[in-house]
Amino acid sequence: MKPITHQFGANVRKALGDVTLQKALGRAKQGFILKRSKAVEALPEFEAIRATAKAIKDHTLAHLDHYLEKFEAQVAASGGQVHWAETPADLARIVTEIARTSGGRKVLKGKSMIGEEAEVNEALAEAGFEAIETDLGEYIIQLAHEPPSHIIAPAIHKTREQIGDLFRKSHHDSRLGPQQNEVAELVTEARRVLRGHFVSGDVGITGGNFLVAETGSVVLVTNEGNGDLSATLPRVHIVTASIEKVVPTLEDATTMLRLLGRSASGQEMSVYTTLFTGPRRAEDPDGPNEFHVVLLDNGRSKMLGTEFQEMLRCIKCGACLNHCPVYGTVGGHAYGWVYPGPMGSVLTPLMLGLKETRDLPNASTLCGRCEAVCPMSIPLPRMLRAHRTEQHRKGLDAQRQRFALMAWGFVARRPRLYRLLMGFNASVLAKAAGRTGRLSRLPFAKAWTFDRDLPAPQGQGFVSAWHKQRGGSP
Ligand code: SF4
Repeated sequence: MKPITHQFGANVRKALGDVTLQKALGRAKQGFILKRSKAVEALPEFEAIRATAKAIKDHTLAHLDHYLEKFEAQVAASGGQVHWAETPADLARIVTEIARTSGGRKVLKGKSMIGEEAEVNEALAEAGFEAIETDLGEYIIQLAHEPPSHIIAPAIHKTREQIGDLFRKSHHDSRLGPQQNEVAELVTEARRVLRGHFVSGDVGITGGNFLVAETGSVVLVTNEGNGDLSATLPRVHIVTASIEKVVPTLEDATTMLRLLGRSASGQEMSVYTTLFTGPRRAEDPDGPNEFHVVLLDNGRSKMLGTEFQEMLRCIKCGACLNHCPVYGTVGGHAYGWVYPGPMGSVLTPLMLGLKETRDLPNASTLCGRCEAVCPMSIPLPRMLRAHRTEQHRKGLDAQRQRFALMAWGFVARRPRLYRLLMGFNASVLAKAAGRTGRLSRLPFAKAWTFDRDLPAPQGQGFVSAWHKQRGGSP
């Protein structure tokens, strides 16, 4: 997926004016929030598991080289092979070479964000392969020639009607009667088409949710079983994953799994949880002849030992996206690369650079909901603030913003002047708002009121209220 993060402002304006997108986002986000909260309430030990999971990941990250080497040795012992990719281009090259050596032409792909990072589909197409996405959401956006807009629900931005239209244009057989837009019918049609591909695929590429160092196993969760079919039917199975996915033991992986499903979609567990350990053995009824794991770094090892190390605890559950008011309003495409929402606004600048991504750390209200729901207790707001500070230090923020901050800093260091100006501002704004109490246009901060009204200040300011509560004078 080519990055277009520098177009964030234009992408946001487009998203806010897209009525269909707003409808799709509105329907989807409430479902995720409610389901997660019910699933968490039903598990009284959720917080205890969360603390254990955090400790497991912190320990693993402190000894990442050890666990990765152990994983590599165990994969080799079970007949597979680990490949190391420093950059996304390395990963795309390695995957394409393995596919070419297999002698096949058709590649089945399960959902993988690493595949998006490395533009694997584009590399395969260039090398003459036919790559078919087998996850329903990924399949839909492949037909639409669009990138995913959510890390666990790639087609969340599409309505049922849009998907019906897409299927009609792409493969509806009119002998089966008129196409319906009902979910069951759409799923049946996608299943009919994908089954044909499953039996004729030569190479299967899947992601991996966890890599288990003690056994060399790859843990994969899906709700559709497409990952299992992509991995076991073709002659070659390639797993693409990033280095921080490793955990020491099987028991550690199960601790993570108890958080993943609940945080992602409110399920106790995903419908399918599969452990792949090496290629097919002589006594196995099915499975691939070759098993490869390609591990991508792409700047992750540089995050170790920095203030961003904690980001590597992420298990890609998507809860922070679902609860983010900014993501919920603009959708994932506005962020312009693979990882949207709060986790993306931290991760993307670390991978693409702060200059290319300068709007992303500012695309947050810092309300803290992302950190509150993150099963791995990642301090996302703190890291977003660290990016903002670094941007300011490097002079990457807009001139107007620098001037506003300097002016605010000057006034904030002079409490009397601060109170005087704030009081003046509040009364001017309240007067300008009139009886409605809302401002639809601000002369020096137009962006605030492009798409919403600003409530005018009412009553006393914070400092007065603070003093009054303590019995002093303002
Ligand atoms: S940052 Fe936390 S909430 Fe967001 S995707 Fe990662 S683990 Fe999930």
